[in-house]
Amino acid sequence: MKKKQFKSESKRLLDLMINSIYTNKEIFLRELISNASDAIDKLYYLSLTDHKVKAKKKDFKIKLELDKDARTLTVIDNGIGMNEEELEKNLGTIAESGTLFFKTENEKKKDIDVIGQFGVGFYSAFMVAQKIQVISKKYGEDQAYLWESEGAEGYTIEKCDYDKQGTKIILTFKEDTDQDNYSDFLDQYKIDTIVKKYSNYITYPIVMDMERSVLKENSKDEYETKIEEETLNSMIPIWRKNKKDVKDEDYNMFYTDTYHDYENPAKVITSNVEGKCSYKALLFIPSHAPYDLYTKEYKKGLTLYSNGVLIMDKCEELLPDYFGFVKGLVDSEDISLNISREILQQDYQVNLIAKSLETKIKKELETMLKDDREAYDNFFKNFGMQLKFGIYNEFGMHKDVLKDLIMFYSSSEKKLVTLKEYVERMKKDQEKIFYACGETVDKIDLLPQVEGIKDKGYEVLYLTEYVDEFALQMLMEYEGKTFVNICSENIDLDSDEEKKELESKNEKSKEMFEIMLSSIGTEVKEIRYTNKLKNHPVCLTSKGNVSVEMEKVINSMPTDEKIKAETILEINENHPIVKKLEKLYKNDKDELEKYTKVLYAQARLIEGLPIENPTEVTNLICDIMS
Ligand code: ADP
Repeated sequence: MKKKQFKSESKRLLDLMINSIYTNKEIFLRELISNASDAIDKLYYLSLTDHKVKAKKKDFKIKLELDKDARTLTVIDNGIGMNEEELEKNLGTIAESGTLFFKTENEKKKDIDVIGQFGVGFYSAFMVAQKIQVISKKYGEDQAYLWESEGAEGYTIEKCDYDKQGTKIILTFKEDTDQDNYSDFLDQYKIDTIVKKYSNYITYPIVMDMERSVLKENSKDEYETKIEEETLNSMIPIWRKNKKDVKDEDYNMFYTDTYHDYENPAKVITSNVEGKCSYKALLFIPSHAPYDLYTKEYKKGLTLYSNGVLIMDKCEELLPDYFGFVKGLVDSEDISLNISREILQQDYQVNLIAKSLETKIKKELETMLKDDREAYDNFFKNFGMQLKFGIYNEFGMHKDVLKDLIMFYSSSEKKLVTLKEYVERMKKDQEKIFYACGETVDKIDLLPQVEGIKDKGYEVLYLTEYVDEFALQMLMEYEGKTFVNICSENIDLDSDEEKKELESKNEKSKEMFEIMLSSIGTEVKEIRYTNKLKNHPVCLTSKGNVSVEMEKVINSMPTDEKIKAETILEINENHPIVKKLEKLYKNDKDELEKYTKVLYAQARLIEGLPIENPTEVTNLICDIMS
């Protein structure tokens, strides 16, 4: 019989498993049991939706058998089974999540994590087995097949006899080594412990013949060995238990096992709703962002059960995009078993549940914000960006849900603050919410405009993420206060007197400004004095709807459309440079133009904008210096 080769990526994973130094090898059993349970789910689902399929819930089970002499553990299920084609497809190639992993990283450390994180499934059995045989007969078909492999060499598939339907997986354990005692897995108590640890909530019985020594009948001290089939798992799904009967560590364990996370969740949310649509939900907020959260590969969604029967793994309709980081499940008797992916979106019950979950998640986050700021800060570090996108997306449709959950760095508090906190602290005369944009908090802190406003005692929000300003523009206002970018023109903190004084000063210098203006690019619309700067000589202010920050964001996108913010070059009226400029205006107009060019270049640099003609500018500086 011809030996077939594993697909190349599968082969690499296989090598990894065979030579694994992963210490937690016992998880192989969790993976096999989970596959068996999935296979039974599929058949059970069929039996409920297609009356031609005769399978009874009470008959479903997963059986484990140990044979010490042969060094084998056998996992038998009466689920849907696999035909030849499926054996080839499913066991000859590895699951996609693993494939993805190999494209992105490959250091040894990560190799170990991957086993925990992705649940590489079936192949993990090669950590402990030198040979794996899979006998399977698909439901409704007559022919059974045997898939067999001793690892990297490849595998064979041939016809075989099997009088049952479903799948039987026989592992022959490796010989013991100094480091690993594989014989442990031949011990019934060890297997019992592993099942209880990882597979307790599997909804089908996991049974095994247990050898127990019991007192002989009518005897006080004579024992005999009895073999009885026992069910090892509790079977009641964790979400169907009363919250008070479940320990935190049980929830954590369920989470880390089910979602292949190495860290406990930041928050566990349970919900038990009775009403128009009754459901139970068990949700988790991860304590770190998955590495692929912001990629196409990331799929949001909750596992959907109808009265304990799995309907689908990732029901996206249950979660809005901005809460897409939430993991968990929903179990509802009011969801029809026959619901198809296509009609989910219009399904009344699904929509009701989704709406109610959204409210619940929001409430929980608000509570966290109020009661455990440190936890919320950490949450926001991981998922805040998604909330801000949520405000901006869909034309701001969801901004009211999210506006109290977002935070920005505050110039006065030196930490992230909410809009509510900002507004509550606003000075009496302050009508608008001030913000400034930049790459980092430090860079914004050094912006000339920021310095001036801070000096006057106002709080400024620092926007460092490119989505930030777009989100605020979509919000438009918070509690009646509009937002103003302090690097854009329309900010007004002066008294009438100060305004008048500045105006007359600007009026007097009008001609000088015109000469200066003619020496720099056309995107500068105006030059004038300002009193809002403290130490810096100049700043660039945008005029109109496009701010300098937006210019940077949009121009960094891979489209041909480039935009330019219209700007005003503002000169600090209290800076010594003013005297110099006025002197040059009187005596040396050529020199005045040179100074203007240099000042403009400085303003652009401070804003983080490129200079079109750096050589000219450096020459000018040298010129002035000498
Ligand atoms: P995953 O379970 O993550 O898809 P696995 O490598 O564990 O990856 O399994 C690959 C596929 O093989 C499964 O998706 C399933 O279709 C099939 N399979 C595995 N075990 C069984 C089983 N006991 N009964 C039926 N099909 C199975």
